[in-house]
Amino acid sequence: MGQTRVAIFGSTGSIGRSALEVITHLSHRLKLVAIAAHRSVEQICAQAHRYQPSQVVLTDPVAAQTARKMLGTKFQLLTGTQGLKEVVETSNIDILIMAMTGTVGLIPVMKALTLGKRVALATKEILVAYGDIVMKTARRYEGELLPVDSELTALYQCLDGKEIKTVRRMILTASGGPFWQRGQPDDVKVSAVLNHPTWKMGKKITVDSATMMNKGLEIISAVRLFGVPFQKVATIIHPESIVHSLIEFQDSSIFAQLSTPDMRLPIHYCLTYPERLPSLVKPLRLEAISSLRFYPIPRRQFPCLALAERALRTGPLATCVLNAANEVAVQAFLQNEIAFKSIPSIIRATLNAFNAQHPKLNTQCPSLNALRKVEIWALDFARSQVNRHKRHNKNKE
Ligand code: MG
Repeated sequence: MGQTRVAIFGSTGSIGRSALEVITHLSHRLKLVAIAAHRSVEQICAQAHRYQPSQVVLTDPVAAQTARKMLGTKFQLLTGTQGLKEVVETSNIDILIMAMTGTVGLIPVMKALTLGKRVALATKEILVAYGDIVMKTARRYEGELLPVDSELTALYQCLDGKEIKTVRRMILTASGGPFWQRGQPDDVKVSAVLNHPTWKMGKKITVDSATMMNKGLEIISAVRLFGVPFQKVATIIHPESIVHSLIEFQDSSIFAQLSTPDMRLPIHYCLTYPERLPSLVKPLRLEAISSLRFYPIPRRQFPCLALAERALRTGPLATCVLNAANEVAVQAFLQNEIAFKSIPSIIRATLNAFNAQHPKLNTQCPSLNALRKVEIWALDFARSQVNRHKRHNKNKE
């Protein structure tokens, strides 16, 4: 059996770096053929020299120019989103790990699925904004989409090929983030939000965890990925992050997936599925854990969760709008432009405006074009809201 050929898009981020460790661990079966990043030149060049892929992509053209000098002629250097697409088309990969933030990875993901490849998807924004069309493409061309997310992989593993109609409830666990016990503050420093109790992750997802939007995005992802009605997806707080999620079947039996919290496990699973091979993850010693706790989510504290559910009820265009507005708001918060509490306000205003301006647009199966248009509109509208909130803050000073 030949080696499985893998590409990592987003290799310099937290998931990408873990993926490199997993591939090295499984190097008897896996071969790294390409890595891609947006503009982390030094990091990606160091990775290229160390892990020896044949192709390197920097989507930022200026960064690509710098990389050309640092890499020499040993590697094929590509640039732009076109470069990502080219890797998928030309390098004969078997698995694409997509871990770039935002929806820039949409086109290469669609391309890989169209070619019947396996996509290990860490960027849940793609499922949230474009899930319907992505899943349709996967089914049509027999591409495989496996989630790189501790909760979604847990659901995938608990389902393990059983029929979806036998599922009564999918239960996503949430660590609760830094604020669930003391209530969500109106204003808080970026550094306090980035201090997550159980996971070390990228900045965007850490803010999403603090607002609980991350759980909202996971509910939407689960609905898209498994094709279950949203009423069947529940959430529960579990501060230890040991039980990654659960499925209750119609006979009232509940399956759960447990492990030490380590993102290398979902990555390992995507790279070895359907086999079960030794991984780098530290075994869980249940006797060392004094208790596993579960609590209902205090929903009033987390308005983002209700906003995500509202978008899900409205339809695929609304979830695309929600995702775009959230991206803009989170970026603005990370850049200290708006207060923490402005994040849900900006998302709400964008959803309201979408419903008012595009009432007829909300069809159940929008085209890729319709989704992209609405995404551009939502990014723009949310940015205008950021400006309003900025001014508002200044007036108060
Ligand atoms: Mg998760």
